[in-house]
Amino acid sequence: MKQKTKLIHGGIVGDEATGAVSTPIYQVSTYKQDGVGGLRQGYEYSRTGNPTRHALEELIKDLENGHAGFAFGSGMAAISSVMMLFDTGSHVVLTDDVYGGTYRVMTKVLNRLGIDSTFVDTSDPENVKNAIQENTKAVFIETPTNPLLKVTDIAAVSAVAKEHGLLTIVDNTFTTPYWQTPIDHGADIVVHSATKYLGGHSDVVAGLVVVNSAELAEEVHFVQNSVGAILGPQDSWLLMRGIKTLGLRMEEHEVNAKEIVSFLERHEGVTTIHYPGIKSHPGHETAAKQSRGFGGMISFDVGSGEKAARVLEKVKYFTLAESLGAVESLISLPARMTHASIPAERRAELGITDGLVRISVGIEDIEDLLADLEQALED
Ligand SMILES: *Cc1c(COP(=O)(O)O)cnc(C)c1O
Repeated sequence: MKQKTKLIHGGIVGDEATGAVSTPIYQVSTYKQDGVGGLRQGYEYSRTGNPTRHALEELIKDLENGHAGFAFGSGMAAISSVMMLFDTGSHVVLTDDVYGGTYRVMTKVLNRLGIDSTFVDTSDPENVKNAIQENTKAVFIETPTNPLLKVTDIAAVSAVAKEHGLLTIVDNTFTTPYWQTPIDHGADIVVHSATKYLGGHSDVVAGLVVVNSAELAEEVHFVQNSVGAILGPQDSWLLMRGIKTLGLRMEEHEVNAKEIVSFLERHEGVTTIHYPGIKSHPGHETAAKQSRGFGGMISFDVGSGEKAARVLEKVKYFTLAESLGAVESLISLPARMTHASIPAERRAELGITDGLVRISVGIEDIEDLLADLEQALED
């Protein structure tokens, strides 16, 4: 099955009992048993399993070409639950510019449980190799990253991880399984903030995990059921509804993003543009090798913090907000919003300048988006 067909026909389609073509919302906590332990469809309690959530979990499993899928209450719940696979005394190597929430949970929460982390530029697999310690259990990569769209070679890093007996975990939020399926390149676990492109409509907070083996499936289900950070049936349904149009949306985000990139390239007020679809982007070749598309996230430098603030004030169709991946275009200033908590020197080291503007390109008419950026960039 091709990805666009899988979005519609993957997982569990509709309802066996009634023929309903949309999976019903099983708003239920417990299930009648036929005698003690006599479960009718394997369901006993909705933290352990719920038919609506299960339909979503089967769908994301199919989309990511994995062995099993799991749905959580947020992307951070998904990531934290995956980290619960590791014992006290373990160590994880992560991409240096991972999502801020991932950095926070590793350095301010999981460190308290004795799970240590090292952050390196994973776009060079050699750095991963050098960061591996005796107690390292996993490599966690995000590709591309936010806001500089740095790309990590999933196959190269998984090869290093396998050599050392480590798990490879990939945060696939930015590219989605429509364009990129990390398990096909050697990853063991894929995590998502489904709040972003998968949901796609800025109306649900959710997280997903996909694993590549029966052993990992059993371990993740054990944590999901024990810790209990599950996604409810309403939100599971909403997410399945969003995923049906993921292909159409991702195609359109990409078409619009490419138009905006070529407009920015011609604009003299814009200095640097970060987009993996550009040939001169350092991660272009790797992105082209492992992804079928480059996505709808762009960041660019307008020269100064003051100028950037003016652009954000002047835009009409780009909503000033954190988050990304929705039908509406969003705009943000990483140095003063998502990355404000990072010290200025560290930001400079990473290349997150004061004039850096990040946009999540929506699916509005491109003519309107270009005209809007044009007027916002005028002095
Ligand atoms: C938003 C985001 C997360 C966290 O997801 P939530 O749903 O907000 O908890 C994790 N990783 C990436 C790349 C994200 O963009």
